[in-house]
Formats: sequence, C-alpha cells, structure tokens
Amino acid sequence: MLENYIQEILISEEEITNKVKELGRQISNDYGDDQQLIVVGILKGAIIFLSDLVREIKLPIALDFMAVSSYGSSTESSGAVRILKDLERDVENKHVLIVEDIVDTGLTLKYLLDNLWSRKPASVKTCTLLDKPSRRLVDVTVDYNGFSIPDKFVVGYGLDFAENYRNLPYIAILKPEAYE
Ligand code: 5GP
Repeated sequence: MLENYIQEILISEEEITNKVKELGRQISNDYGDDQQLIVVGILKGAIIFLSDLVREIKLPIALDFMAVSSYGSSTESSGAVRILKDLERDVENKHVLIVEDIVDTGLTLKYLLDNLWSRKPASVKTCTLLDKPSRRLVDVTVDYNGFSIPDKFVVGYGLDFAENYRNLPYIAILKPEAYE
C-alpha cells in the first residue's frame, strides 16, 4: 500500500481544503469580473491543487498549462529551465496567475516570471501551495502562498517522488525505505 511508506503527515486533507478556500476567496477579491484572468498551471505537480483552487475562484477564468524541467540533477539545480510544453494562448494584455505546487530555490518560478512577462501580459502573479523559504536562491515574489514548510522533501496532493505519491490527498514526508 502507498501509505506504508508515509512517515508523517505534514499537512492534512482538512487543512488543505480550508487553505484552498481561503486562497480562492483572496484571488476572487483581488481580481475584477472584467479582467481576463488566465490561470496557468505548472505540470504536473500543480494539477491537483489547481483543480481544487479554480473551483474556489468565483470569476470567469481561462485555464492553460506549461510544463518545464530544470537541467541537471534535481538536487543541484542550475537555474536553467527547459520548456517541455508551452501555453496554447497568447497572454498579451491578459492577467496571468501562475499556479505552482512548491517554490524551493525559486529558480523555476523566476524563469517562468521572466518568460511570461516578456509576452507583454497586463500582469503576472504567482500562487503556490507550498513554500520552502529557507531554500531560496533567487528573489521571487509569491503573491499567494498556502503553507510555508521546513526544508524537508514532501510528497502528495500532486507532488511526487519518482512519479509516485501524487494521488495522496495530503502532504507527507516519506520513510527512508521509500527511497531505496
Ligand atoms: P525550484 O526551482 O524552486 O528549486 O524548484 C521547484 C520545483 O522543485 C517544484 O516545482 C518541484 O517540482 C520540485 N520540488 C522542490 N521541493 C520539492 C519537494 O519537497 N517535493 C517534491 N516532490 N518536489 C519538490
């Protein structure tokens, strides 16, 4: 069973549900009905968060997706990012909200912000479920943050280890044997 490898539940399903509602309320209040908001989900980690979050946004939105991968090993991020899947829509003069699973060093989000701003949108804001502020290497503004967490590798609610555990309904830390 998937759950045999869980050491600790860091953030419960209920805490996530409450936080997602709160973020949805904030976002709904901050944007106007007349603004064309494009919610950009970053694949694959953000999809579970995104699908819950957009149902709490009480405004007309369009959905789009990007997939990126960083060059080099995941433990030693170089900051160079490759686009695996780009947006389908032109975002010029539109309001863009990037939805991420987790901001760690900030290098991925920095790249995405620079890249999206170069397309002349009306605005770009960022929303992440999780933030590891102690790991930050570059300065990026997180406009909406669910939870700040310590420097621990987490899985669940979209986040994976070797493509596993994305379907856990909570955020958890794995037992050491899960990595063997
Ligand atoms: P950054 O560019 O901010 O260093 O890295 C962001 C990406 O690293 C996230 O989108 C995610 O894919 C991955 N990442 C960073 N920390 C974790 C973690 O604790 N768990 C998982 N599953 N992925 C992480």
